[in-house]
Amino acid sequence: MSALVTARDLAKHFGGGGWPRTGPVVRAIDGVSFDIPRRGALGLVGESGSGKSTTARVLLRLQEPTAGRFRFDGEDVFALRPAALRRLRARMQIIHQNPMAALHPAMSVLDQVRRPLALQGIGTRHSRTEAAIELMSQVGLSPEQGRRMPHQFSGGQRQRVEIARALITRPDFLVLDEPTSALDVSVQAQILRLLTGLRAEFGLTFLFVSHDLGVIRHMCDQVAVMYLGRIVEIAPKDSFFATPRHPYAQALLSVVPVPDPAQRTRPRSRLTGEPPSPRNPPSGCAFHPRCPMAQDICRREAPVLRPLAPGHSAACHLAEARP
Ligand code: SF4
Repeated sequence: MSALVTARDLAKHFGGGGWPRTGPVVRAIDGVSFDIPRRGALGLVGESGSGKSTTARVLLRLQEPTAGRFRFDGEDVFALRPAALRRLRARMQIIHQNPMAALHPAMSVLDQVRRPLALQGIGTRHSRTEAAIELMSQVGLSPEQGRRMPHQFSGGQRQRVEIARALITRPDFLVLDEPTSALDVSVQAQILRLLTGLRAEFGLTFLFVSHDLGVIRHMCDQVAVMYLGRIVEIAPKDSFFATPRHPYAQALLSVVPVPDPAQRTRPRSRLTGEPPSPRNPPSGCAFHPRCPMAQDICRREAPVLRPLAPGHSAACHLAEARP
C-alpha cells in the first residue's frame, strides 16, 4: 500500500532567545519520522508534553517546522506557497480536543459547517447548504440543529459539529488531536464509533493523537510512542500490543486493560516520576531517570530507533535483552 503521508526528521525548536541568541533551545520535537499508508491510521501516544500535538500541528503547518520534510500524496507540503497550501488544506483537516475553542461562538453551526467550502470557493451557496445538511445528518445532527449556536450543544454534539466541519471539503487525511479526551466515557465511545464508521465510509487516513493507549488500540493500525519530543517506538498495532519493546511503552501499556487473556503474562512496570523538562533534557537516553532497566550506557549514549521485527522499531540499548 502506498504511503499517503510521509514525515521525515520533523523538528520544532523554540527559544535560543535574547540577542545574541544565548537562551536554551527547547527541542519540542526532533527527528520525528513516520509513514501512514492511504486509509491507514497511526496512533501517536505519549504523556502530556511528549510532543505529539506539536507533531500534528507542524505537519499541517499550523506551526512552522524548524526542519524536516512532509510529503502528502507526493506533494512537498513544507515547500508549498500559501495559495497552494490553502488548496491542499481542503484535503488535510484537523479535529481539536476542545471544539468550543475551535468553533465561532456567535455563528450558527450550519454556517460553520458550510464555511470551509466557501473559503475554498467550492460550489454555490445552495449546494454548500445542501452538503452541510447532509453531512450534519451523517454525524447525527438534524437540519433544525443547524440554526443553533455552539453553546446550545452538549460537548459530544459540538464534537459532531467539528467533525462535520472537518469533513465538508472531503479530505483524505484527518488529524485528530485528543478528539475525545474532554468527553464523558459514554460519549467518548459514541464519538469513536462515529469516527470508525466515517473512516470506512470516506476512505480516510488518520493521524490519531492520544494519551490513551486503549483508544489507540481501538482506532489505529499502527502505533508510535513519543517521549520528550522523539519517537521511541513505532510498530504495527498487533506487534506493539503483543510485544512492546521500549520500557516506557511497557509502562504505558501496563495500565491499559488487556482484553486477551493470552497477553496477561506480559511484564508489568509502573511509571514513576515526571517527564523531564525539554529545557533541560537528561544526558543519553531521555528516559533513563525513570527507567527501571537503566545501565551506565543509557546515561552516556542516546539510543537510536532501530528495527527489531518487521515494521517494529524501538530506541533502547537493551531492547533485545528483554522478552
Ligand atoms: Fe531504559 Fe536504557 Fe532503554 Fe533508555 S536505553 S529505555 S534507559 S534501558
